[in-house]
Amino acid sequence: MELLKERIRKDGVIKEGNVLKVDNFLNHQMDIELFNEIGREFKRRFADVKVDRILTIEASGIGIAAIAAQYFHVPVVFAKKSQSINLDGTMLSAPIESFTHKRRYEVIVASRFLNPGENVLILDDFLANGCAALGLCEIIEKAHANVAGIGIVIEKGFQCGGKMLREKGLRVESLAIVDGMDAETQTIRFRD
Ligand code: 5GP
Repeated sequence: MELLKERIRKDGVIKEGNVLKVDNFLNHQMDIELFNEIGREFKRRFADVKVDRILTIEASGIGIAAIAAQYFHVPVVFAKKSQSINLDGTMLSAPIESFTHKRRYEVIVASRFLNPGENVLILDDFLANGCAALGLCEIIEKAHANVAGIGIVIEKGFQCGGKMLREKGLRVESLAIVDGMDAETQTIRFRD
């Protein structure tokens, strides 16, 4: 998606440790017009797939999924990162290792928001080692639902997540794939 690549080139800041900061338009301040184009593009790419529900993970996935859902006309559920007193009923959970925060935590979804046999599209902002996406797949599996696909805004193609998920036979659609980035020169290389 050219518009997205241009925006990453313009506003992305490459940090040490293979972290790309895009908090000017995606992770902190949100450019809703761009989100709208991202939602439209996800719908175009998954046009042939039956989607009953979108699943994402708090916090950065929520805005993206909420705007995209207006094209799919389905509800959005977001996995919570910590046990909350507001959660009641049966919970589905999976452990996740955070790439950016370097710690492990449980992600939780109330089972009443994922029905058996449903086709669930996973959407998230970044794909690095694939731990977050895999945790969401695990939750969908525990709900006896199906993974309809995985839509990612920015995949870091030089990390192993995309390869690992595709080798499992999962359909991964990434709107921009970064094949290399250099913190010193602030240069970024995209896959065509
Ligand atoms: P993974 O689980 O695939 O290793 O990492 C995906 C999660 O880590 C995403 O949900 C995202 O929040 C975060 N993440 C991974 N790499 C980056 C990055 O380079 N920049 C930002 N802003 N977040 C990242």
